[in-house]
Amino acid sequence: MLDAVVIGAGHNGLTAAAYLARAGLRVRVYEARPVLGGACVTEELWPGFRVSRAAYVAGLLRPKVVEELALASHGLRLLPRRPASFTPLADGRSLTLGGDRAAAEAEIRRFSARDAEAYPRYEAVLDRASRVVEPLLDVSPPDPARPRWRDLAPLARAARGALGLRRDAAAAARLLLGSARSTLESWFESEPLRSTLATDALIGAWAGPSTPGTGYVLLHHVMGETGGARGVWAYVEGGMGRLSEAIASAARAAGAEIEPDCRVARVWLDGARARGVVLADGSPVEARVVLSNADPRCTFQGLVDPAALPEDFAADVARLDFRSPSLKINLALDALPRFRGREGEPPGPEHAGTVHLGAADLDALDASFAAAEAGRLPERPMVEMTLPSALDPSLAPPGRHVASMFVQHVPWQPAGSSWDAERDAFADRVLALVDEVAPGFSASVLYREVLAPPDLERVFGLSGGNIFHGAMTLDRLGFLRPVPGWARYRTPVASLYLCGAGTHPGGGVMGACGRNAAREVIADLRRAR
Ligand SMILES: Cc1cc2nc3c(=O)[nH]c(=O)nc-3n(C[C@H](O)[C@H](O)[C@H](O)COP(=O)(O)OP(=O)(O)OC[C@H]3O[C@@H](n4cnc5c(N)ncnc54)[C@H](O)[C@@H]3O)c2cc1C
Repeated sequence: MLDAVVIGAGHNGLTAAAYLARAGLRVRVYEARPVLGGACVTEELWPGFRVSRAAYVAGLLRPKVVEELALASHGLRLLPRRPASFTPLADGRSLTLGGDRAAAEAEIRRFSARDAEAYPRYEAVLDRASRVVEPLLDVSPPDPARPRWRDLAPLARAARGALGLRRDAAAAARLLLGSARSTLESWFESEPLRSTLATDALIGAWAGPSTPGTGYVLLHHVMGETGGARGVWAYVEGGMGRLSEAIASAARAAGAEIEPDCRVARVWLDGARARGVVLADGSPVEARVVLSNADPRCTFQGLVDPAALPEDFAADVARLDFRSPSLKINLALDALPRFRGREGEPPGPEHAGTVHLGAADLDALDASFAAAEAGRLPERPMVEMTLPSALDPSLAPPGRHVASMFVQHVPWQPAGSSWDAERDAFADRVLALVDEVAPGFSASVLYREVLAPPDLERVFGLSGGNIFHGAMTLDRLGFLRPVPGWARYRTPVASLYLCGAGTHPGGGVMGACGRNAAREVIADLRRAR
C-alpha cells in the first residue's frame, strides 16, 4: 500500500510529494492534465512558441524549497528582471523602476522630487514589514482554538520583528490592514508611480485600490527573495513550467511516482476516514493518507462525499470567495514592441521587466474595478505585460517572441452577453492599449490565446478562475485559511489533507503550502506508527 496519494501535480502538490518522498514515504501523484505544474506551466501553444500559459514570473518561491530540494541541480535557472517595471505614458514619457536604486530615484524625480525622496523610505518600510511576516510563511499557522507549544517560536519571532519596527510600525500596520490607495496616497503624489505600485495590490484580487485589505496583497507580492535578492521577481529560464519540472525531478529522484493525464474521480472514504482515491477509470488506489492539491471548492464539493463533512464546515467552504478579476492573454509576436521615446534596437531595458498599461491612475483603477463589479468589461483595464523571450531566446524561434498580458478587472461573464461574444473584441481593445505607446504592436501578433475567468477554470481547474485558490482577504489568511479550525492542512475527513494555494500562506508560486502540508503529514504518520 502507498503511504500517500497526492491529487494534482501543481507546483504545491509536487513540492509536498518531494518532501514526503524524501522522508522515506511511498508517494504517488495523479495529475489530470497531460502537463505537470498546474498554473505553473510552460506549454508550446504554437509550433516553436513556448509560453508560461498561466503564472509568468517567479518572486515568491520560498528559498528553503529551492535549497532543500536542490532545485538548481534539477534544472532551475532564474533570470532576474532588471529593471523590474516600465510604465510608458501616452505622451511619450515613461517611468522605469527597479534595478539600480539611483536610476529609479532619477526616474521618479522626473514626476515628483518629493516622491523621489520618499521612495527609498517606502521600500525600506515594505522590506521591514516583509521580514516580520516572512517567517510565518514557512510554518503552519497557529490555531488559537488549539494552541501548540511549537507555534510559539515563530509567533515570538514575528512579534519581536513587529516591535523592532518602532517608528515604522504605524506605516506597516496601515499597509497590512488598509487599502492600497490609503498607503500609496500617504507616501506619493505622482500618479504614474502610485498606479504602477498599486498593481501588486490588485493582481488576482476582486478589488480596486480603495478596497480595504489590498495593502496585504501588495505586501504578499513584494515578499520573497527569489535568487537571493529581496523583492526581485525573475523569469524562469524555459518558462514557469521548468520550475515545476525541477520540483518533479526532485520528487522522482527521492522515489515519488508521478502520473500525468490521470484524473482522480473521488476520495475513497471508509466512514469518516480517507482510504485512498478512485481514479476516473474506476480503479481504487489505497493509501495511508491523501493530499489534495485541488482548491477547497473542487476538493470538498467535487471529490469528497458531502455526507462525510460536518455541516458547519461544508457551509463555510460554500461561503469561500472565488470571485476573480483576471484574464490572461498569451501572444506569439514577430518582433518586440518599439515604445515611443525609446530609440535603439530592441531588446532594451524597457523589454526586461513588466510593462504597465491601461488604467493610468488610482481613480482609473477604481473605475475599472467598478466596471467588473457591474458586469461590464472596462474600457481601460489594468494590464501587466511581460516579454520573457527578450531575456530567454529558448522560448521562441529566432527573431520571434512571446508575450504575456495579465489583465485585471473583468467579470466572470459580461452582463447580458457572453465571453464567446466579447472575447475577441475585448482582446483587441487590450492590444490597442499597447499600440498607444508602441505603434504597430497589434500588427506584430502572429497568434493569440485569450483566457477569461471561465477558461482559467476549465483549463487549470481553478474555481471561479481564482488564481489564489480563493480570496486572499484578511478574513481568509493565516489561521482562517481556508476556514477557521482547519488551517493546518488537515480536514474534517481523517487522513485527508489539503496542500494547495487554498491553504496558508496562499496563492502564488511559493511552494510553501506544499512544504508545510508535507511537514504536518509526516508528523501525523510518525505519531501513528
Ligand atoms: C493566469 C495566472 C497568472 C498567474 N501569475 C502568477 C505569477 O506570475 N506569479 C506567481 O507567483 N503566481 C501567479 N499566479 C498564481 C499561481 O500560479 C497559483 O497560485 C499557484 O500556481 C497555485 O499552485 P498550486 O500548486 O497550489 O495549485 P494549481 O497550480 O492550481 O495545481 C492544482 C493541480 O491539481 C490538478 N487537479 C485538480 N483536480 C484534480 C483531480 N481531480 N485529479 C487530478 N488532478 C487534479 C490540476 O490539474 C492542477 O494541476 C497566476 C495564476 C494564474 C491562473
